[in-house]
Amino acid sequence: MKRILHLTIIALALFSCTKSADCGRHGIINEQEGWFIVKDITPSQSQGNIWMISEHGNATCYLVTGSKYAMLIDTGIGVGDLAGLVRGLTDLPLIVVNTHGHPDHVGANYQFTEVWFPEKDLDLLNEMNPLNNPDLEAYVESYLRDFEYDRQAAKENIERIKAYKPYKLKLFNEGKSWDLGGKVISTIELGGHTPGGTLFVDESDKILFTGDALNGYLWMWLDTCLSLEEFERNLTAVVPKISHLERMYGGHESRAEGVEIRQAETMLNDLRSALAGEVEPVVTPKPMNGEGTVNVYYFPTWLLWAK
Ligand SMILES: [Zn+2]
Repeated sequence: MKRILHLTIIALALFSCTKSADCGRHGIINEQEGWFIVKDITPSQSQGNIWMISEHGNATCYLVTGSKYAMLIDTGIGVGDLAGLVRGLTDLPLIVVNTHGHPDHVGANYQFTEVWFPEKDLDLLNEMNPLNNPDLEAYVESYLRDFEYDRQAAKENIERIKAYKPYKLKLFNEGKSWDLGGKVISTIELGGHTPGGTLFVDESDKILFTGDALNGYLWMWLDTCLSLEEFERNLTAVVPKISHLERMYGGHESRAEGVEIRQAETMLNDLRSALAGEVEPVVTPKPMNGEGTVNVYYFPTWLLWAK
């Protein structure tokens, strides 16, 4: 039976992390009510579990368990107590990985003692790591918006977090894999959105975790994105390696069913149409209040934000 449980975790972290090596490395917001949305997206016949964890609709992480280890794919924006949440879901030793170096996917790295990271995105991580933001309070505020929270407690937590010892960063390149026990997670590089963007393959569940390398609102307009031509070449090489899988889950996904894997091929074909000049982009003001414009291609099933 397919289990799709939609759980809102209430204050879980406050009571659940007594056994964790990550204890004491809490998030900025320890009150969990309404902050994280957790969905059990475990396919039928799966060994272990898979949870989709959305951090307040901003970014989505995944927790995948085998018989011996659990893997956390991405760490969100880092405002909520993700480590505590994870410890409420599994007792297994944890492997933490990042799909790429953007701040909304590495935000809670500081809550863990060790994180695996794609080497080609290292410059990006150093440049954009939220903890390097001189105004961390403003960073947090920008995500909290109208969420009710204790501002004084958050301020104190920020000071505490700044005093943490840095977590250990372990670099990987394409081909790295991890055996979770009855379930191997392997990596495929897909440079485009970022140079080192990485896809995580869960072969036994026929699932692909894509971070932002493939998603429905693909941002290719940032200065650090590769060219559309490079991305097309990279995606051409990747599609045959993933087409036997069933579903893919991106770094901002909220649908429990994710997206059918054939969407990757659709994106490749649409991308080729754009490069061939067969589709006209819509010139649009730059997102995030930047100066200038970007070219947005409106394809039937996704949007491409290009330079
Ligand atoms: Zn990104």
